[in-house]
Amino acid sequence: MAEVLVLIDHADGEPRKLSLQLLTAAKQLAEDSGDTVAAVWLGPGASDAAERLGSFGADKLYHWDSDDAYGYVTLPQVEALEAALEASGADTLFFASSNHVKDVAARLAIRVGAGVITDVTGLAPGDDGRLVATKEVFGGEKITESSVAADAKQFIGIASNAFAAEEDGSGAPETVALDVELSEAATAATVVSVEKVASADRPDIGEAAIVVAGGRGLGDESKFGLMEQLADVLGAGVGASRAATDAGWYPHRYQIGQTGRTISPMLYIGAGISGAIQHRAGMQTSQHIVAINKDPEAPIFQIADFGVVGDLNQVVPKLTEELTSRKG
Ligand SMILES: Cc1cc2nc3c(=O)[nH]c(=O)nc-3n(C[C@H](O)[C@H](O)[C@H](O)COP(=O)(O)OP(=O)(O)OC[C@H]3O[C@@H](n4cnc5c(N)ncnc54)[C@H](O)[C@@H]3O)c2cc1C
Repeated sequence: MAEVLVLIDHADGEPRKLSLQLLTAAKQLAEDSGDTVAAVWLGPGASDAAERLGSFGADKLYHWDSDDAYGYVTLPQVEALEAALEASGADTLFFASSNHVKDVAARLAIRVGAGVITDVTGLAPGDDGRLVATKEVFGGEKITESSVAADAKQFIGIASNAFAAEEDGSGAPETVALDVELSEAATAATVVSVEKVASADRPDIGEAAIVVAGGRGLGDESKFGLMEQLADVLGAGVGASRAATDAGWYPHRYQIGQTGRTISPMLYIGAGISGAIQHRAGMQTSQHIVAINKDPEAPIFQIADFGVVGDLNQVVPKLTEELTSRKG
C-alpha cells in the first residue's frame, strides 16, 4: 500500500479551501487503488489543523513545525517537502496550482526527476496505473489529457474548485514530525517582511465559489460599485478585465486572465467584458459562466452558459435587487 502526498497550502493557521479539495480528490483516487493519503504541513500550526485535515481525508500528517519554512524564500519548503517525499516513499504528490506552490513543486521536481502537470481540472486513473490529468491549454482553445511517464514521480497541481471538498467523518490522522536539515543555499535569501494587502471583506478571487467581474464596458471606476454590491449579496469576490485594471479602475491584483489570476469558481458573472482570449484563459474553467453584455456578438457569449444581452447599468442593479429580495 503506497502513500499519496498532498501538500497543504495554509494561511493564518487554516488550510486553504483548495487544499481540502485536494485531500478529498486524493482520498477518492487512493481508495480506488488501495493507497492512503498523507498530508504535508510546513510551518507552525499542524497540530491545531490535524483533526480538520483528517476529516477531509488525511490518514497521516507529515509536519515540520519550524518558522524557517516561511522565514526564507521558497527553498526551505522545497527541502522539507523533499524530506516528506523520502519519508513516505510516495510516487504521487498533489499540490495547489497557485503561483507560489507551483514554484515549490517545480523546484522539487527538478531535484527528484518528477514530471509536473499544473492547472489540472480533472483526474482519472489510467490503464497503466498512472493518473490521467485533464487541463485546458492555449487559453482554453484545447483540452488535453496527459500522464507523467511511468519511471518518474507524478506531481499534479490542481486548479481551484475542480473538486468538491467533502468531510468523511474520519478523526485526527497519525502525525509524523519531519526531520529537516536545511542546506546553506536554503537560508541564503531571508524574508524581511510580509505585508498583508488590505482587502475588502470579500473572498479571494482565486478561492471564491462565486466571482463577479467587470470590464471596460463599465465605463468608469465608480461603476465597480455596482459589481461590489452584486458581489456582496452573493458572498462573491470581485475581479476585473485587464482593460479595467489598466485604466486604473480596479487594482491589478484583481485582474483575471493570461497575465492576471487564473480562477475557477462555481459561478463567474462577467459584465461589460468582451471575452478576449487572454481574459478567457483565466476564467474559462469556471463551472457556470454568466455574461452581461450589450453586444450580442461579444465573444464571451460563445462560452457563457447564460447570457444577458443588455446594458449592465440596468441589468446589474436589477439582479442585485432581485437577489436581495429573494434572500429576504
Ligand atoms: C499579451 C496580452 C496579455 C493580456 N492579458 C490579459 C489578461 O490577463 N486579462 C484580460 O482581461 N485581458 C488581457 N489582455 C487584454 C485583452 O486582449 C483585452 O483587451 C481585454 O480583455 C479587454 O477587456 P474588456 O473585455 O474589459 O474590454 P473590451 O474588449 O473593450 O470589451 C468591453 C465590452 O463591454 C461591452 N459593453 C460596453 N458598454 C456596455 C454596457 N453599458 N453594458 C453591457 N456591456 C457593455 C462591449 O460590448 C464590449 O464587449 C491581454 C492582452 C495581451 C496582448
